[in-house]
Amino acid sequence: MEEVRATAMTYYANMSIGQKQAVQNFYKSLDANGDGKVTSQEYLDALRKAGLNQTSLPSNLFQVLDENNDGTLDLEECVTFYYMITGQRLVSCDGCGSYMLGLHFLCVECYRVSKEKTFDLCGSCYRNKNFNHAHSYFLDNFALLRTQLPAVLIRTYVAYIREKLIHGGAVNKFFTAPHNVARPFR
Ligand SMILES: [Zn+2]
Ligand SMILES: [Zn+2]
Repeated sequence: MEEVRATAMTYYANMSIGQKQAVQNFYKSLDANGDGKVTSQEYLDALRKAGLNQTSLPSNLFQVLDENNDGTLDLEECVTFYYMITGQRLVSCDGCGSYMLGLHFLCVECYRVSKEKTFDLCGSCYRNKNFNHAHSYFLDNFALLRTQLPAVLIRTYVAYIREKLIHGGAVNKFFTAPHNVARPFR
């Protein structure tokens, strides 16, 4: 959680005044009675008003966000919440519904079809087969990210070959435009 929070605060520090204002407005919209703290009741009311029912969000999200465990969310904790919602960092387990950070498992088949609608499992649900799903090939998110690399490299290589075929041919023929060969990866 520390990592997500630090990332959120880094984004926040680099935001324009207008963007910071949007985050502060978001915080104020959560803090219904304006006392500078967001209670779990205010959080739930805000979700309901926004048309988000509890089941569409990780069940333990409030507890995860409430870093110092004082039962309320302060501005910093809400910055993390805002970042999670807007930065698509909300991943809940499709087995038990808990909020996951860091390592978790994704269905490779579903991931291939859509990067947005993935089927995700926490380590415990995957290990204990606590899920009902049509596919059975899962990879952890870091391994999955690595499998993306060869495709990127292949695309770059194909682009390089194409570049060579077009410009390299011209270079051989006319002995001109060497800059095209010098910068194959642009
Ligand atoms: Zn789970
Ligand atoms: Zn699947």
